[in-house]
Order: sequence, then C-alpha cells, then structure tokens
Amino acid sequence: MRKKKSNQKKSFIKYSDCGTIDLVYRVKGRGFKLTVMILAALVMTLLLCYSGAGVDTELDGKAKDILISRVQVDAYDTAAAELKRKEAAEKAAKEEVKVSEEVKELKEERKKSSEDIKESTTSIKKAYLTFDDGPSSNTDRILDILDEYNVKGNFFVIGRFSDAYKDQYRRIIDEGHVIGMHSYSHIYTEIYASADAFTADLNHVQYVIYDVTGYAPNIYRFPGGSSNLVSPVSMLEFIDILDKRGIVYYDWNVNSGDADTSLLGKQQIIDNVFTGIKALDSPEERNEVMILFHDLAQKTTTVEALPAVIEGLQAQGYVIAPIDDYTKKIQYPNVE
Ligand code: ZN
Repeated sequence: MRKKKSNQKKSFIKYSDCGTIDLVYRVKGRGFKLTVMILAALVMTLLLCYSGAGVDTELDGKAKDILISRVQVDAYDTAAAELKRKEAAEKAAKEEVKVSEEVKELKEERKKSSEDIKESTTSIKKAYLTFDDGPSSNTDRILDILDEYNVKGNFFVIGRFSDAYKDQYRRIIDEGHVIGMHSYSHIYTEIYASADAFTADLNHVQYVIYDVTGYAPNIYRFPGGSSNLVSPVSMLEFIDILDKRGIVYYDWNVNSGDADTSLLGKQQIIDNVFTGIKALDSPEERNEVMILFHDLAQKTTTVEALPAVIEGLQAQGYVIAPIDDYTKKIQYPNVE
C-alpha cells in the first residue's frame, strides 16, 4: 500500500522580532500559486509587524511628550516656586523697611517729645524758694503762705527731731513741698572734720527724716555752701561721698541775706532778692534762680517778706517751683 502523501503535513510557529506570532504552513508538492500566497502572507505579516513598530514608536513619542511635559511642569513648578519665594522675600523686605521706618518715626517722636520737655523746662523762668535750717516755730507760717499762693517750696532741714517739730517735717512732705538734707548737727567743725564724720552726720539726718516721714531725701545743701572756707578737708571729698550715693547738692545763686547776724527789715530782704536776680550775669542764669532763705525762729522778717517776694517773682514771669530732676544743678564752680 502506497503511503499517502500529505500536502499539508507540517506546520510550525514562528515568533517574529516584533512579538507577533506567525503561523507558517509548510507546503509540499503544491504549485507556485500556493508559494506566492505564502509569500504574500509573509509580506502582510512584515507589513503588520512594521505597522506594529510604528504604533510603538508613536507610543514612545507620546511617552516622550508626556515626559517633556512633566519636565516642563516640574520646571514650571520650580520657576513658580522661585517666583513665589522671590515675591515673599520682597514682601518681607518691604515689611522690614516699613517696620524699620515705623521704629525710626517712633524714635524721632520720642526725641522730639524729650526735646519739647527740655524746651518747656528751659523756656519757663523758674524760681526755687529754699529754706535752710528748719524746722522752726516759723515753719507753719511759711507753709501757710506757700499754700495761700499755691506754690511749692524747698526745705533743707537739719536734725531737730523733738516731738514739737515732727509734725512740721511731715507737713512739708504731705503738702507736696520738697525736703532736702542740710546736715544733722549743723555744727561745721563736726561735720567737716573728716570724711567719716561727714558720712555719719549724713546717715543720721537721712535716717531720721525717713523715720519720721517715711521718705528718704536725695538732695543736700552743704552748711555754708559747697564753697565754704570753714572745712579743713577738701569739699571735693564730701561731694564725692554724695555722688556715690546718688545725692545731688544745690547751692544758690540769689541770697536774701536773711542770715545776717542782725535782723534785716522785711523790705531789705525783698530788695536783696530782686537786686540779686538782676545782678546775675546772663539771661540763662536769670531764667532759673535758687533763692536762699532761712527757716529759723528769730528770722521773722523772712516770713513777712515772703508774700511780696512771691508776688514780685510771679510779676516777672517766674514759676515758683519745687526742685525736681529737671532743675538746673546750681552749684558753685571751682570748689576746692
Ligand atoms: Zn544752714
């Protein structure tokens, strides 16, 4: 028996480069026509493969486009962030400038207001009525007159702390006048004997004023003034002691002369005050006068002269003032 020949005996699968599966039939013993058909099929397969590769390329292109877009977006984001950062930095810089301008304005305002205070304190003529050596039996009368004129005085008191005078110390404070120290003993030879003696006397007077009034004074008037020729020790030593304790001392630039051994008449005291002001060298000095009076029992004419002195000063445009931080430090020059 003849073995029957098959014209389609075998088939196999071919994997193309482009990943498609081509089923190829091997043909045997058939004509050219079939071969052409097979060739055509192959061509078709190649074409399909080519077109498949085209899709891939297209996809690749799109992916590339997406990638480019993403890079562009990223770049845009980076640029936008940089722009925002710059804008924020510029805004912050502007704010900083604004704040620093505001601070500058505030500083200028403060400077101006402090200059205004200085101007107002220097342009007003001020007279300080100072009373040394009290309290005395005249203190209440002096305080009554000051109250009547609604002006404030300055009392450089000594240590006269018997019960009879305690009320006067308190009244000086309570009625808004200034209390300063003028030593405890008022005995020159004791106070100025040495730095230690001066310090002990200073402590004493400051303590008892505090004890009686609850107020520790921080201004001082040297008995005899800072230029006195009585002290055997340099006055600079005592000034140094005061400086170290933050105590300011005041001399005077107008003297009523009421410390004269003889009792001056009321009019003499008034005249001394106004001729004393007139005798001051410059308008600046005349703008701030510190007048020396005494609050002593025997100095009755001082009390009598006081109303006319106050009225005369006010008529000349003076404000009768208490000593404060703005008061010119009226101190004698060339103290030795
Ligand atoms: Zn005195």
